[in-house]
Amino acid sequence: MPEAIATTKRKFYKALESLNSTSSTRPSEPATKRVRRSLSTSTSTRVSSVTKVPESNGETPRKPPNYSPWSHEIFLARLKTYSSVSLWHPKPEAISEVEWARRGWVCVDVNTVACRGGCEKRVVVSLLFDKAHDDANGSNIGVDGEDSDDESMREDALVKRYQSLLVDGHSTACPWHKAGCKDDIYHLQVVRPSIWQPELKKRYQSLRELDPIIRDVNVTTIPHESANSLPPEKLLADVPSDLLDEADPTSKDAARALDVALHGWRGSQDSGNDLLHCDACFQRVGLWMYQPGYQQSRASSDDDEDSMATLDLLELHRDHCPWRNSDTQKASGTLSGLNASQILQRVVSTYAREQRRKSDMASRTPQQLEDDDQVDGEDLYAPASPAPSKEEVEQQDKERESKLKRLKSLFSIKRRPTVKPGVVTKVGR
Ligand SMILES: [Zn+2]
Ligand SMILES: [Zn+2]
Repeated sequence: MPEAIATTKRKFYKALESLNSTSSTRPSEPATKRVRRSLSTSTSTRVSSVTKVPESNGETPRKPPNYSPWSHEIFLARLKTYSSVSLWHPKPEAISEVEWARRGWVCVDVNTVACRGGCEKRVVVSLLFDKAHDDANGSNIGVDGEDSDDESMREDALVKRYQSLLVDGHSTACPWHKAGCKDDIYHLQVVRPSIWQPELKKRYQSLRELDPIIRDVNVTTIPHESANSLPPEKLLADVPSDLLDEADPTSKDAARALDVALHGWRGSQDSGNDLLHCDACFQRVGLWMYQPGYQQSRASSDDDEDSMATLDLLELHRDHCPWRNSDTQKASGTLSGLNASQILQRVVSTYAREQRRKSDMASRTPQQLEDDDQVDGEDLYAPASPAPSKEEVEQQDKERESKLKRLKSLFSIKRRPTVKPGVVTKVGR
């Protein structure tokens, strides 16, 4: 091992030890930085019946550990604590916020995670690229001012060390030390109608409130062919009106809002600013930056400085977001390899096709069904059982036609009938 790494690692361990020893006494943080109360209260009830409370060592009894590795909801609540860019800086995938949250950690301070409601251990996760920031804050660990010709090697070593701290950072008695969340804990449920329908409606309606802002934005979406799905205009026309409570399914604003909602975004307003918000990766997008008149400060460095910015509904999610990332979505079966946006679009498209068929069947008479069949020649369905088959209808038409001919010959009418067989059918009745 190169000397530089060894030195760095020694310093790192030392710093870590001191951090762990101080934190195990009593974390003293301002109340504003405490983890949301909902996180600890919502889990404490479930936890008590399932997990073992660590042996009491004569001191005041401890709260049950915040151990709920099966809960997607509580995993998201932990992940949300990492969403502030000033508290948590981007990390390599192996030690990203998803990994820490998966193992029970919440972000409690700048690049600092803690096992709240559990063993209360803390780990400062600081890498080389955090150096400038941490130096400024005086909280740098593992790296000092020494020159290094191989920063990436040191970083790799740090990443490995932090990977082991994901587990070993917990005390050995902590249940999070034994097991974390299962691999698909981030999976978004977008297939079950009882879940996707109310959630899509909620997102859609929140976005309709931002119509004037979203209307003029350039957006990039999943190509509908690749998602094996229908465009939003078609979806709006085909789904029952109560799915979205949409009074005017032909409106362009409605189609735009649906498109954005299908990519997992909801609309929100914060201090008068219009935002898109993702409840899976907690990304927030300020819509004012995508307005036609908005001058970007970074525009000069962009290749298309004269055009307005494009709102990429997929790419704006954080890398790990299941709306964008099929690895974290972890879908199985025929949907495997698809992200949540693609799956939802496919699911809603299938639903819309089914609904269209049902309403067609209910509203058309057998004769209309037959007429439609003759007009466009491509009907998606077979007629329902009460309607006669095409062959039967043709047979009946022939019989009527020959009856009519005989009738005409009785009256010695020589003119050829100019009407179509379909109309003759009606006359003959
Ligand atoms: Zn712990
Ligand atoms: Zn997201």
